[in-house]
Amino acid sequence: MTGCLAERWRENLLKAHPGVDGLIGTRRLEDLVPLIRQLKVGSKVSPYLDYPALQYAPGASYTTIQGGSSYLKIADGCHRSCAFCAIPGIKGSLVSRPIEDILRDARFLQEVGVNEINLIAQDVTAYGADRGETDGLYELLCKLMPEIPDVPWLRLLYTYPGMITDNLIDLMANSEQLLPYLDIPLQHADPEVLRSMRRPSDIDWVRRTINKMRERIPDLVVRTTLIVGFPTETETSFEELYKFVEEMQFDQMGVFTYSPEIGTLAENLGDPVSTEEKEVRKQRLMELQSRMALVKKQSLIGKTLDILVEGVDEEQEVIIGRSYRDAPEIDGLVVANGRAAVGDLTPVTIESVGPYDLFGSQS
Ligand code: SF4
Repeated sequence: MTGCLAERWRENLLKAHPGVDGLIGTRRLEDLVPLIRQLKVGSKVSPYLDYPALQYAPGASYTTIQGGSSYLKIADGCHRSCAFCAIPGIKGSLVSRPIEDILRDARFLQEVGVNEINLIAQDVTAYGADRGETDGLYELLCKLMPEIPDVPWLRLLYTYPGMITDNLIDLMANSEQLLPYLDIPLQHADPEVLRSMRRPSDIDWVRRTINKMRERIPDLVVRTTLIVGFPTETETSFEELYKFVEEMQFDQMGVFTYSPEIGTLAENLGDPVSTEEKEVRKQRLMELQSRMALVKKQSLIGKTLDILVEGVDEEQEVIIGRSYRDAPEIDGLVVANGRAAVGDLTPVTIESVGPYDLFGSQS
């Protein structure tokens, strides 16, 4: 048994499920193959051993490929302490992979022909902070991009407020390869709620940074995620959040309703906002967002965007994919008349739009 549940409940799981042969959590994944070999020859695998931090095995690959797209993990764990989040307790503190290992994984992805690499971590902007680096993500990108000239799309997922440096903005503004896509989970906009979430509460930094980036990078897409119904969120603070969303005009947005996680700091705050009220707040934000997104997307009609094909219907001659504006799995899709193979990048002229998806024809 492996993964977050195994890491979190450890011996309790072994007691509850005597049929489990061994339990390895999230921090010793590099031991998976030797442990399975031991099981095959009939030995019992020792239960959880206390690994204080995740360890990266030299030579192991941390990539996932889906069609023409891929994920490349650059770090794991988190050194922050957001009050609602169980991840640091499960994954441990931040561990950044050595640059050479990331470059090797990226070259491999280029060799197999992917058209998109999504760099991931719990917080990509923290890359290198565990080694004392102050702008580690920028340094990494400067080394990474020249190594993979044949991968046209490089996307950053999960950046942390306050950690977007001017170097990073310049790089995004001047590079064809680093997509103009800012994924910045803000969680809230009311400083008091953010303080109780133990998140950065300087909401003016968010305004300044996003506005500066929009000026420098006209095609920038900004995505955020928010939590409604956090225990300290009042009707007034929710209205603050609503106004902020209206002001910022995000291109993509996800909203979660709060639920307490065992072992987190916020657990002690209780869960005073009712489920119904949380749903009402979520719906209000999503309705606002879908109205604004529809208006914003209308400016794309008549434009031609490259799309990365994820699905085809050969009979109907329809292709489904994503433009640079949409991250895999979380954002919208582009549906177009045309023919292409899964994994291709092909130009599509946009003819109509919905709040989430775009429709058009192959150019
Ligand atoms: S929400 Fe993100 S930044 Fe905050 S503790 Fe969890 S993983 Fe870390």
